[in-house]
Amino acid sequence: MKAILAKGYILALDQGTTSSRAIVFDRQGQVAAMAQQEFRQLFPHPGWVEHDANDIWRTQYAVAREVLSKLHLTPQQISAIGIANQRETTVLWDRKTGEPVANAIVWQDRRTATRCAELQEGGQAQRVQKKTGLRFDAYFSGSKIEWLLDHVPGVRDRAERGELAFGTVDSWLIWKLTGGRLHVTDASNASRTQLFNILDMRWDAELLALFNIPASVLPQVVPSSGVIGETDASLFGAPLRIAGVAGDQQAATFGQACYSPGMAKNTYGTGCFMLMNTGTAAVSSQFKLLTTVAWAGPALSGAAPRELANTCYALEGSVFMGGATIQWLRDGLEIIQSAQEVEALASRVADTDDVYLVPAFAGLGTPHWDSRARAALVGMTRGTSRAHIARAALESIALQVADVFSAMNSDSRIALSELRVDGGACHNNLLMQIQADLLGVPVVRPVVTETTALGAAYLAGLATGFWSGADEVAEQWRIDRRFEPLLSHAGREAKQARWHQAVERSKAWVNG
Ligand code: ADP
Repeated sequence: MKAILAKGYILALDQGTTSSRAIVFDRQGQVAAMAQQEFRQLFPHPGWVEHDANDIWRTQYAVAREVLSKLHLTPQQISAIGIANQRETTVLWDRKTGEPVANAIVWQDRRTATRCAELQEGGQAQRVQKKTGLRFDAYFSGSKIEWLLDHVPGVRDRAERGELAFGTVDSWLIWKLTGGRLHVTDASNASRTQLFNILDMRWDAELLALFNIPASVLPQVVPSSGVIGETDASLFGAPLRIAGVAGDQQAATFGQACYSPGMAKNTYGTGCFMLMNTGTAAVSSQFKLLTTVAWAGPALSGAAPRELANTCYALEGSVFMGGATIQWLRDGLEIIQSAQEVEALASRVADTDDVYLVPAFAGLGTPHWDSRARAALVGMTRGTSRAHIARAALESIALQVADVFSAMNSDSRIALSELRVDGGACHNNLLMQIQADLLGVPVVRPVVTETTALGAAYLAGLATGFWSGADEVAEQWRIDRRFEPLLSHAGREAKQARWHQAVERSKAWVNG
């Protein structure tokens, strides 16, 4: 009996943009317990977004301990830790003291937008996209590291002397979890730095030179699934194996069991992120999608633990304002008091009466990549009510996702037959129905929507033999609800044509 009870759980750390969460999963992939803490968002200048990396660590460690104590679990009952993290956010710290040299620059931060626009205009964009899968954008870590090296006094010299370590949030957490013994990052996170060649799976000397970054700051790249080390014994009373690491969107794709080429998921969180598994092919996008490492791992192929093997790639589309559009209705317009209320309000009207909201509050992502676009609300008449605006807001989320979906179909030349969904806003049934109508294929919501943490748990549990293989975890995926498209083909086309007219009106609004 004791042997059966032993190591019956996986601890997943889900380090997000606004909160740190820890979830314990059982062998059936069910949530046994969860703890969550929000942390400070720092906005020192317009367009700048920072986190204190020590806040990230403190809250993540606190929730990990809290969730273990909720279930009265001892370290002996945990098979492994899996980590999923907000991506691209850049931390630079002193290798000796472990102290960050400055606040972390968050993925949403636009301070390097001008620098990146210059690079994108230059002659190298196409070649760099081939190597990294990315376009030049302030979103990715490379220009953020360069900024820290150039603007924080003394930092460039210290970096040149080998005294500093760079990491995305996974690296930082693993460094803290191992008492500074490991400076690593997984391949999915590395693929978001714009310094990593996703074809030969190495840091790229040309890109390091372009951003003027010394190679000495870089972490070692490790598999997403594989035992990479142990936590310092003092943290949880005994060492715990760290066996799964992936960026949050890649982890969610894994948690959605999208294991075969052509399977895709969309997460409806603050933003919307659609990833489609393209298998061993790094598909170079013609339609402004990103190409990214989905995961790499010996647990999926039987290679040695620290070896990079069996890389799986994905195409990705990013919508900046997803659920955040609903936050704007709540906090900006104040026409609802909670995000949940939007469904009832939007249901008061049968359609938007030709009103369109283009939520380009922070520019437009895929497929436009227009950082000068700004939000527009068009088509209003004296009959327009807040219900119409609420419905237009929901439609705007689904219309943006539909644009990404069609780019994905075109790039991959695979007609996606369904879309798996997760994230906070996927619980809105009206939104999901509108989405199915606009895609023309079913939208499928699983029972467990904590797919980010679940994916990290799966990556870890597959590496330690907690689960036998991808087939076993894929079996655990269960449908909660399937939304079938009801709108006619002509109706869908008319809606999209009108939406694209509205999008044109929002483009290139601000100068410079
Ligand atoms: P993140 O992980 O990015 O913080 P979550 O997955 O927790 O996001 O989802 C929160 C987002 O979902 C918020 O932007 C919120 O406005 C939106 N949201 C939550 N519930 C609903 C709902 N019922 N309808 C529409 N949007 C919702």
